[in-house]
Amino acid sequence: MTDPLIVADRGWIRDAIGQLRREANRSADTHLLRLDLPQFPGIPFYFKDEAAHPTGSLKHRLARSLFLYALCNGRLRERQTVVDASSGSTAISEAWFARMLGLPFIAVMPASTAPRKIADVQALGGRCDLVDDPPDVHARAAWHASNGACHLDQFGLAERATDWRGNNNIAESILRQMAMEPMPEPTWIVCGAGTGGTSATIGRYLRYQGLATRLCVAEPTGGAFAQGWRTRDVAAVATRATVIEGIGRPRVEPGFLFDVVEDVVEVDDERSIACAWWLERWLGRRYGGSSGTNLAACLHLASRMKMRGEHGSIVSLLCDRGERYAQTLFDPAWLRARELAPESLQETLPPVPC
Ligand SMILES: *Cc1c(COP(=O)(O)O)cnc(C)c1O
Repeated sequence: MTDPLIVADRGWIRDAIGQLRREANRSADTHLLRLDLPQFPGIPFYFKDEAAHPTGSLKHRLARSLFLYALCNGRLRERQTVVDASSGSTAISEAWFARMLGLPFIAVMPASTAPRKIADVQALGGRCDLVDDPPDVHARAAWHASNGACHLDQFGLAERATDWRGNNNIAESILRQMAMEPMPEPTWIVCGAGTGGTSATIGRYLRYQGLATRLCVAEPTGGAFAQGWRTRDVAAVATRATVIEGIGRPRVEPGFLFDVVEDVVEVDDERSIACAWWLERWLGRRYGGSSGTNLAACLHLASRMKMRGEHGSIVSLLCDRGERYAQTLFDPAWLRARELAPESLQETLPPVPC
């Protein structure tokens, strides 16, 4: 006899997946913005504006994939509470999708997370469970799961939840948008590593497509990805804390695939912030600190290419909306309290093109 519970569950799963599919179909692709700097002739930059997603960051893609992965693995049921550990961006996107599917959501986050992100999760009907010690978020999320919640587990599953072969993943989208550019096969793609999902997807896709494009991870100085990547040491830990949210993890995450990354450029926080400010002057809109880290790494790679007389395109990402950091990276008092003076680095950056 067929268990009526299972039949009901499959119907709900089918409807939930239908909701996710329709959301994806209603959404437009994010823009790829081109930047030409006179000091780098023959080296055009491109930035994919991932802040343009409905939930304001590249985590919109990940959250959609994680819900789909949980549903297709039979781990997520009707009315089940959903939980994840997140520094904020993922929680905002997951809260949005949970609301869409009619599921309660709990975000486990460090108490130090930008207040605006906490407010955003709450505004979407999510509950924030704040922990004082950031590394405790994982144990706390596991505790909720042991009490019956579905753990979306961004850090454990980011690397496998996304279909790296295509299916409009971020790498496929970038290369499609590059197709008509004068140098359609980028010399470098630059991204950060938080869960490692973005770098894993891009690195795999570049190989799958047989491209020569190299992948560079832009990392806050002393972050665990940089430490681990050099020696392929998964036990590596960060040697320095960072104020850049979303990247610069304290430990090597399960989704960090060192072997698909050709270079890691470490960027000091002050420089990342100066570059985030630079982006605001260029685009008239604010982006978060990790977008600044990406820009800093792009400029570093471009300088190296210029020195060697190389030409080629460099592609990177604008990861999230800068409004989220109004009370932190864009607040002079907050910066002064941390002895960060990004304005002192203005001179070391190229003039903003008008
Ligand atoms: C998550 C995140 C990243 C890094 O992306 P991953 O795919 O998780 O490695 C970069 N910037 C921001 C703002 C993020 O939230």
